[in-house]
Amino acid sequence: MKVVALVPAAGSGERLGRASEEKPFLEIGGKPLLAHVLSRLSDSGRIDRIVVMVKDKYLERTRDLIRGWHIEKVQSVVPGGVTRTESVRNGIEEASPGEDELVLIHDGARPFVTGEVIERAVDLAARTGAAVVGLPCDSTIKKVSGDLTVEETPPRSGLWEAQTPQVFSSEVIREAYRAYAGGNVTDDSSLVEMSGRKVKMVKGTRDNIKITVPEDIRLAEAILAGERAE
Ligand code: C5P
Repeated sequence: MKVVALVPAAGSGERLGRASEEKPFLEIGGKPLLAHVLSRLSDSGRIDRIVVMVKDKYLERTRDLIRGWHIEKVQSVVPGGVTRTESVRNGIEEASPGEDELVLIHDGARPFVTGEVIERAVDLAARTGAAVVGLPCDSTIKKVSGDLTVEETPPRSGLWEAQTPQVFSSEVIREAYRAYAGGNVTDDSSLVEMSGRKVKMVKGTRDNIKITVPEDIRLAEAILAGERAE
């Protein structure tokens, strides 16, 4: 099956603090964050084409980055939206996935996705229609109210942390986004679950971190140094 990858990278990056504005272009080991992400997706034999969503003001700079780092499979760079969901919706419209195509969605802030994880997620989605990469929670999770009172401790055994990539058949993701009427969801799987479809989980890796706060940049540098030493 053909696979189109959508890469939402139009966030505000506010939690990064001072460096936030430049998040897609922040260097990790001398290479911009977004170039790491796009190179890895482009290098995967499972992915055929890529659509990237960035802030309007970064459209040209992103196209330059793609040329400069010789990233081959990017078909287009389009504006994102105010929310992640809007950004992905723009990507789906631009990509216009065919009926027999899979749509792989991967955060523009996760630079360490591996070819093996992409393969596992794509293969599972090809069989089931919807597959999400994640990890079993190894800490206890508390549900906490606005005044920091612990309200609930769900049993850890059934809890997984969702990452990306998340891969869906074209029909499943289109249906989920058609039905979506606003509100705040933080991943694409949530919309698919709401539309009544079953989603399967596939185990990812610990290194597949999302660069969100300044400490993550140090962690990313360490992961990269470790990979290079292998
Ligand atoms: O906010 P969060 O860290 O979950 O964002 C995950 C990804 O979604 C990031 O790569 C971010 O750039 C992207 N995003 C987007 N458009 C938005 C908000 C977030 O493309 N409006």
